[in-house]
Amino acid sequence: MNTTPASARSASPASTLDSSAARRFIEETWDRSIVPTLVEYVKIPNKSPAFDREWKKNGHMDRAVELIAAWCKQRPIAGLKLEVVRLRNEKGEERTPVIFMEIPGRDCDDTVLLYGHLDKQPEMTGWSDGLGPWIPVLREDKLYGRGGADDGYAAFGSLTAIEAMERQGARRARCVVLIEGCEESGSFDLPAYVDHLAPRIGTPSLVVCLDSGCGNYEQLWGTTSLRGLVGGDLSVEVLTEGVHSGDASGVVASSFRILRQLLARVDDANTGAVVKDFHVAIPPDRQAQAKVVAQVLGDEIYTKFPFVPGMRPMDTDLVELVLNRTWRPALSIVGMDGIPPTASAGNVLRPKTVARLSLRVPPTMDAEGAARRLKQLLEADPPYGARVRFDYEKAGSGWNAPAMAAWLEGAVSAASNDYFGKPAVYNGEGGSIPFMGMLGAKFPAAQFLITGLLGPGSNAHGPNEFLHIPTGKRLTGAVAGVLSAHAQRPRG
Ligand SMILES: [Zn+2]
Repeated sequence: MNTTPASARSASPASTLDSSAARRFIEETWDRSIVPTLVEYVKIPNKSPAFDREWKKNGHMDRAVELIAAWCKQRPIAGLKLEVVRLRNEKGEERTPVIFMEIPGRDCDDTVLLYGHLDKQPEMTGWSDGLGPWIPVLREDKLYGRGGADDGYAAFGSLTAIEAMERQGARRARCVVLIEGCEESGSFDLPAYVDHLAPRIGTPSLVVCLDSGCGNYEQLWGTTSLRGLVGGDLSVEVLTEGVHSGDASGVVASSFRILRQLLARVDDANTGAVVKDFHVAIPPDRQAQAKVVAQVLGDEIYTKFPFVPGMRPMDTDLVELVLNRTWRPALSIVGMDGIPPTASAGNVLRPKTVARLSLRVPPTMDAEGAARRLKQLLEADPPYGARVRFDYEKAGSGWNAPAMAAWLEGAVSAASNDYFGKPAVYNGEGGSIPFMGMLGAKFPAAQFLITGLLGPGSNAHGPNEFLHIPTGKRLTGAVAGVLSAHAQRPRG
């Protein structure tokens, strides 16, 4: 595409980015190279370690790493160094690998960290006919299948943004790209890598993360907050073995009813409102943002979900829905044990019920503290003296963006206009990206561009996940635009 000879490119080393040329190159790269590689990537069932304890033996993770690393290594970016880093944990077991790349800056001694992940959520049921988690399907402008949008494209998008700049000789900070394999399991392997790589990461002044969502596919969405997550198993045991329910019911309390009692300590079954222990005061600027989001999106805030006919959202006030999703806690039961499927259910008073709880907590809440509080709340004073236990995994705190520097606000706005033709919008996300909380704490002076293409219908974690290809292209352009503005920004 680019016909500029290398000598001419290096003639203006401090040049800014030409967005039309960048767009052409980025679109062509997506069509010719990124989409075909993502098609191969979707086929690999490299589930996150929490969903595939045998990930090492199964080898899918290594195949995904191999595919992405091989593609990245081929990029004609001067000085690009790529290493697949493999550390071991305290028990001597291999941690999920990290792809780490370093790209020297061009006329800029600053550092930008670009982040993504390559592990995937499990299959989930409910995929439509012809679609499936490991079956790549290109339909209209979408690539269906698990993990393309969440978050396989991040490595490709990040490097293509850098390559687009490279071709124009645009001024750019040193870039480090970190692609982890443990995000969907709460990034428990990542802190060790960040420590290990600290001298090579340096002190980024900007973090770019392409693992987030967008309210629509029409403009650039900046994520200003992420909720935290507390997950664990609540187990209620009442008997040592199951007994005839006609014989025992009315004498022995049902473990399911006790579970309901315990859950009522956490949220109100009528409203879904979680008890005050897990709330924070919502900052005024985030409340103001929520109003803008409600105006921009209108009822798309809830129509994007596949409601059954007749089903309504939890509130009629759109601003409340935005705040519920981004700044308030919410409890979901995401799995259960001890309950047979209906087809093989006998009339038995079952000995126990186990529920996997997923409690989303507000961005600024300490998730470890919330997990301890949840355990206390659930285990205190068990009804009928039942054996009640809540075992939680390492909790992941959320994140609230630091105040945005004027240069970044300008850069995001320009990038949205250049590549989407519409102004940028800022929103909180209801999901979690554990690494952002870690980075926010580690690099308090850093600015963040957190964005993504998980928009309406894209259904990451659920069935029929898709990647919206035009948005992938535009986001890649927007990253190049912001990197260029970062290198040109006034520094004091
Ligand atoms: Zn993700």
